[in-house]
Amino acid sequence: MAGVSVQFNPNPSLNFKLQFRSSFNQRKQLFSISPPTRKIRGRNGGNLGMGAVCATHNFDVVVVGAGIIGLIIARDLLLRSNLSVAVVDAAVPCSGATGAGQGYLWMVHKTPGTEVWDLAMRSRKLWQLLADNLQDQGSDPLEALGWKKTGSLLIGKTEAQLNQLKSRVQQLSMAGIRAEYLSNNDLAIREPELAINQQSGAAFLPDDCQLDAHRTMAFIEKDNRLFLSQGRYAEFYHDPAVCFIRSNGKGKIDGIKTQKNTLYGRKATIIAAGCWTGSLMDKLLQNSDIVLHVPIQPRKGFLLALENFNNLRVTHGLMEAGYVDHQKSVISASDKVDSNEALSISMTVTRDASGNLLIGSSRQFAGFNTELDTFIVDRIWERAQDFFPSLKEFSVKNLSEQMNVRIGLRPYMPDGKPVIGPVPGITNLFIASGHEGGGLSMALGTAEMVTDMILDNPLQLDCKPFAVEGRCC
Ligand SMILES: Cc1cc2nc3c(=O)[nH]c(=O)nc-3n(C[C@H](O)[C@H](O)[C@H](O)COP(=O)(O)OP(=O)(O)OC[C@H]3O[C@@H](n4cnc5c(N)ncnc54)[C@H](O)[C@@H]3O)c2cc1C
Repeated sequence: MAGVSVQFNPNPSLNFKLQFRSSFNQRKQLFSISPPTRKIRGRNGGNLGMGAVCATHNFDVVVVGAGIIGLIIARDLLLRSNLSVAVVDAAVPCSGATGAGQGYLWMVHKTPGTEVWDLAMRSRKLWQLLADNLQDQGSDPLEALGWKKTGSLLIGKTEAQLNQLKSRVQQLSMAGIRAEYLSNNDLAIREPELAINQQSGAAFLPDDCQLDAHRTMAFIEKDNRLFLSQGRYAEFYHDPAVCFIRSNGKGKIDGIKTQKNTLYGRKATIIAAGCWTGSLMDKLLQNSDIVLHVPIQPRKGFLLALENFNNLRVTHGLMEAGYVDHQKSVISASDKVDSNEALSISMTVTRDASGNLLIGSSRQFAGFNTELDTFIVDRIWERAQDFFPSLKEFSVKNLSEQMNVRIGLRPYMPDGKPVIGPVPGITNLFIASGHEGGGLSMALGTAEMVTDMILDNPLQLDCKPFAVEGRCC
């Protein structure tokens, strides 16, 4: 295992040297399309050096967190209003969960009729529109976003699972999604390398798509930066938010103080800090009389990315049926894993736009720890071998040169729904976080909802299920 390389996600809780080194390496790879400035940019495009004294800037909206949620909210606001927007991050884009994301926008494991379904469906439509628009403008969505229409397969291996998959296909069809049940023979034709027996079958969604989180983030950044010259956009990276600005009275937020800057947000301040949202809000509100606790927790996940691995042919995005309810696929902990950190592993496999084979994934509550754990890597590999016997010819050790382990902290909300909306009793403060394992797939719908709330537009979806009120206290 010694040679396995780890794509750390530098977050505020990590050792500083490590954070800088890893984020620098990530940025080289991440922004090959549009390299970011390594200096902090002021609103008017002026570069404020890293050691600059605290400066004051005025914007309409300040977004805290440059993960997929924060960056795409900024993009939506820039495109659909004339407001100016600043984005603040403790590190850089893709340094949180987003950088580890597998990129599937699949609907096969989501359940029609749930509130999250509506948000994911709306986002799916908006992602498709974005991909179509790019195509119409002569750009290749595969190049720009890593966009691939792979279709998705949710694979069952027991009679009980097959029965569930059959009713899932019915449910999905009734909800307007093209869905098909595949018997073991049909499945073998679609994915010949999959281990298949009498008890195998799958739900198949031929129209499901995926994107590449890193390409998509670079694309969004490039779009946002088109507004730099108009003075409508600025980025403040490596500059964590430290406290709210509350100039007049108790019930209004006027912006954010970061370690290096004072950023006024005339119309709104949006906290989109992923799994750090709860602890950050506690910190930002600590000297106030406001009682609000956002119960978002980090849920650690590993994804194995194999470069130039052509020994396995997979045509679709695949996911085991157990993924639908990760809580159920808890495996017994070994002495390597603390017994109270319930670990679950569910097989997912797909090939990304660069040809990497992505094999996932784990779920675990381990605080803000982002360390590599070879025990988990081995379990993910074994789980994939159960589904693809040809992988048994390879060990993690043999593949160490080709294998990157992506580690990220999903923002987990105990009730399984993101928190999106204004904070009651505090004017101009919004939260957009808690998307757990679906932040990429729900991003565009979330951004649309937040923008419409800020602009006082009618909403496309019912926002009540995602409200702060009643869920954060
Ligand atoms: C292994 C794995 C696979 C996944 N696969 C998929 C998938 O296939 N499809 C899908 O839809 N989702 C997937 N996800 C989930 C998805 O990645 C997350 O839901 C999504 O990235 C969350 O985005 P975010 O912007 O809320 O958080 P993050 O990406 O974590 O961004 C939060 C940002 O806030 C910043 N921040 C923290 N504190 C501060 C502060 N004090 N001041 C300023 N900034 C701060 C951080 O530096 C970070 O950049 C996966 C996740 C993992 C871990």
